[in-house]
Amino acid sequence: MFKFLKSILKRSAPKFVYSNKYWVNIGNHVFPVEKYRLIYENLIKKGIKRKYIITPNPANEEDILLVHTPKYVKKLKTGSLSSREIMTLELPYSKELMYFAWLFVGGTIETFKLALKEGVAIHVGGGFHHAFPDHGEGFCILNDIAIGLRKLKKENKIKKGMVIDCDVHQGNGTAFIFSKESDIFTFSIHQMDNYPAEKQKSDIDIGLWSGDGDWEYLEALKKFIPKIYTDFNPDLIVYLAGADPYEKDQLGGLKLSKKGLQERDKIVIENALKLKIPVAILLAGGYAFDVKNTVEIHLNTINLAIKLFRKYT
Ligand SMILES: [Zn+2]
Repeated sequence: MFKFLKSILKRSAPKFVYSNKYWVNIGNHVFPVEKYRLIYENLIKKGIKRKYIITPNPANEEDILLVHTPKYVKKLKTGSLSSREIMTLELPYSKELMYFAWLFVGGTIETFKLALKEGVAIHVGGGFHHAFPDHGEGFCILNDIAIGLRKLKKENKIKKGMVIDCDVHQGNGTAFIFSKESDIFTFSIHQMDNYPAEKQKSDIDIGLWSGDGDWEYLEALKKFIPKIYTDFNPDLIVYLAGADPYEKDQLGGLKLSKKGLQERDKIVIENALKLKIPVAILLAGGYAFDVKNTVEIHLNTINLAIKLFRKYT
């Protein structure tokens, strides 16, 4: 009887950070803004109770300025980016888009705090790793990862953090921001012959090539994980679980299967939890020809995270 009760009580879930304001009209665009809502609806359908879903507030300016320059923030707020800057950003500027960016940063900060408290937390959003202190790039306005980590450091909630960036595109903004900070370890596994043309230097970069599939990817990943976890021993791991290394992605040339991506998730998340290192999961990119595939890949990551949360925390 006791065992039975315990198994019911154990049907808890990690916290999800999501807002029904995670949507903005960007017209006909390759960036699938609707994926956030689709994932949320699936979570509710799956039976995740609403008490596990946390609604974030937009980040405040003080937090944004931990990473971004006052000049850039002012341009964002006043709508005075040059046409060249908007071209680099690859998103149409609007006030609503700024709210969207600010809200995602708030969501990532919340996710990091929840992960530290509970072992695992999932942001149904976030992962804007191409944003630099003084400009945005490739759909990324504000670098939520860097802002969140700097904030945790400032508040003495962590001493050391690690970013495991498995989006198909190199985490150039994040690598640049932390290039001189030895207490934040940046790891990026990405496709070399893809955006961004000019790569930045992470602590570890694994560059794969167009056409590389599950085997090449997973073998490369296993060379470093869990070794870097034990060597660096971070207080928090931030996992960018990009869905764009998928074989049918419009913006990716790697050929990972859905099964291969699940194996990737398992290596990153389970090894951390085995070592009792909290994991904050951010979705990052995903541009499959059919958005259903992007949503399914993100949900696979989430399902695994729930399972591992129940097993290890
Ligand atoms: Zn990407």
